[in-house]
Amino acid sequence: MRSEIRTALERSGLTAVDAADSAAAVELALQVPPDLILMDVDLPELDGFAACARIRETPELAYTPIVMLTGREDDDSVQNAYDSGATDFISKPINWKLLSHRIRYIMRATRVRRGLRESVRKNRALIRAIPDAMLVVDEGGKVRARHRGRDDSDLLDHCAGRDCSILDVLPGHSAAAWREQIGVVLASGNMAQSEDHIEHNGEHFFYETRMVPYTRDSVLVMLRDVSEKRRADAKVRRLAFFDTLTGLPNRQSFLIQGAEAIREARADGSSLSVLYFDLDNFKRINDSLGHSIGDALLRGIARRLETCVRRQDSVARHGVSNSAVQVARLGGDEFTVLLRDLASPDEAEKVAARLVEALSEPLNFKGQQFVITPSVGIASYPEDGEDIDTLLKNADMAMYGAKAQGRNRVSVFSGTMSVRSLERLDLEDSLRKAIRNGDLELHYQPKLCLRTRHVSGVEALLRWTHPDRGQVSPAKFIPIAEEAGLIVDLSQWVLEAACRQLKAWSGTPLEPVPVAINLSGKQFREADVDRTILTAVRAHGVDHSRLDLELTEGTLMHDVDAIVQMLTRLKDIGMSIAVDDFGTGYSSLSSLKRFPIDALKIDRSFVSEIGNAGNDRSICAAIIALAQSMDLKVIAEGVETREQLQHLEFLGCDEIQGFFFARPMPGDEVTAFLERQLEKNGDSSLLADVTAQL
Ligand code: C2E
Ligand code: MG
Ligand code: MG
Repeated sequence: MRSEIRTALERSGLTAVDAADSAAAVELALQVPPDLILMDVDLPELDGFAACARIRETPELAYTPIVMLTGREDDDSVQNAYDSGATDFISKPINWKLLSHRIRYIMRATRVRRGLRESVRKNRALIRAIPDAMLVVDEGGKVRARHRGRDDSDLLDHCAGRDCSILDVLPGHSAAAWREQIGVVLASGNMAQSEDHIEHNGEHFFYETRMVPYTRDSVLVMLRDVSEKRRADAKVRRLAFFDTLTGLPNRQSFLIQGAEAIREARADGSSLSVLYFDLDNFKRINDSLGHSIGDALLRGIARRLETCVRRQDSVARHGVSNSAVQVARLGGDEFTVLLRDLASPDEAEKVAARLVEALSEPLNFKGQQFVITPSVGIASYPEDGEDIDTLLKNADMAMYGAKAQGRNRVSVFSGTMSVRSLERLDLEDSLRKAIRNGDLELHYQPKLCLRTRHVSGVEALLRWTHPDRGQVSPAKFIPIAEEAGLIVDLSQWVLEAACRQLKAWSGTPLEPVPVAINLSGKQFREADVDRTILTAVRAHGVDHSRLDLELTEGTLMHDVDAIVQMLTRLKDIGMSIAVDDFGTGYSSLSSLKRFPIDALKIDRSFVSEIGNAGNDRSICAAIIALAQSMDLKVIAEGVETREQLQHLEFLGCDEIQGFFFARPMPGDEVTAFLERQLEKNGDSSLLADVTAQL
């Protein structure tokens, strides 16, 4: 039988090998893996069923099709064959014509099955690699299959039970949306997309959901967890709209909220107010205590402002609901409070007054107490502005009003206010206090003699740190001091300070260094300067010949006769006088001749352009020639580069002053600077050294 079958198969083009019993068959199959095993049920030693089971246990042969030859065509043996792992059976007597067809058919079916197995394996791998969660959900929301993906919300665990519906697990609004979408997807056969926000165990999860038809009565749902991305988006928003130091909304979000509030107010005819807070003297606190304390105090103020605003009594008492109040930090020490739904604009003033009171309570920081007061300006919609920018600008202006009135108070915007006048008022007020408290400083800028390469003197320059704005240029505050009638006191202060510096140097090797002070025109015309100066130098016991004077060219030309008289008196007592900013004041040569002066200072504007093509080099040359012909010394101001110095030296300039040689510096620094210069005295390479240092 065996050899007959083999011949039949070989005749049809197949290759066949045969074995006499099951042990030999397994051995053979392992050596030459076959495409199909044909086997009798009746075998010596081990029967066919047992042999079949044995082959199936061998991993290499687990999927090899096994066809059993059975003569007993009863149900039992057929069932037995299948149970022991047979693929099919052929009953005896064998139909020789059909045998090879049958075998080929089974082999083909096996190949198809193998392909299917392969494809299932690939699909499984694919699904395993997909990070999204997937669900097969039927019309009723029942989950028929699921794949977790990377989802860690354990949302899906909740519908692990057989009869559990996802619709019971989802929050109400999502469940309703899903129910509807499942229906639409099944009816239309199209894909549907949506987003779901699910709060679970106090955490927020965001999903992008895609639903496609799966079977006739179920859909495949793909859930992509985008929570991380949403959190990142939220963080970006926070950075763009919130101040990192205090956590308060920033200027940008204030402007957005303000614009929104105005739209609402316009729609319902209500009014709203912007409160503009600026902390008094904060600049000084920051400068003197350091930025880390400054920052901590700003945080403290921010928190206090927030709590005050939230606390019912501070605002609600005035008919403002606390949800209608928003605090923001504009930057620096400036904060805003937006009050909406006001019963009347007067209420804003009352709320502001309470906030000022609350902020002025001492703040504790590291065991120390700080008192920080605010100045507040108020502008209200609609009377003070129709848009948020205008309201903010006007509230800012009103705040200046509060500063000018002495700080730590509230000021309401009024149409007659102007920034310039308020700013001036504030500067005036602060300057008055600074003179009274001595919050001023003199800096000294050394001048260099180009012939000897030695310091020829220093110029005293006034420095003022405004409590809120920091350094203010004397070019800005001196004219204000003149107009406000403060110049006499201010000049007196400068004179005294310069005398103190001279006194400090007297008896030391620096004794011969002269100090030049600047005299303002107004001071020169109004007071009897000579007497004031003599009184001061005598009081300090210093030699007045070491005090030089600088007057701007503009001042000289005002009232020539009177000035000539005064200058002559000063000259007679032996003081040296220089004309400052020369070249800018249109002085006539004829009057210049009449002034008993000693030096001209070429204005900085000509020096800075001296190296460039243009008239400035010729102007410098002309001034120097003029000075030489009148026997005056020439000093060039604002020399910043070596090139400028070389030009000036070539033209025959006597002295230079400017950042290239030395900047203006406080008294102790200039003393140290001069002492270093003195050590190098007599060394003609002094300038080279200085240049190397720079
Ligand atoms: P000024 O008397 O012509 O003083 C020279 C100015 O030029 C100073 O400005 C000085 O800091 C600056 N300067 C010096 N070297 C350079 C440089 O290389 N480059 C540049 N860009 N600038 C340089 P500051 O201190 O701002 O003073 C401005 C003006 O204010 C002074 O001009 C003077 O007219 C006036 N001033 C300063 N202190 C007093 C004072 O005590 N009393 C009076 N009445 N006026 C003063
Ligand atoms: Mg000067
Ligand atoms: Mg000048």
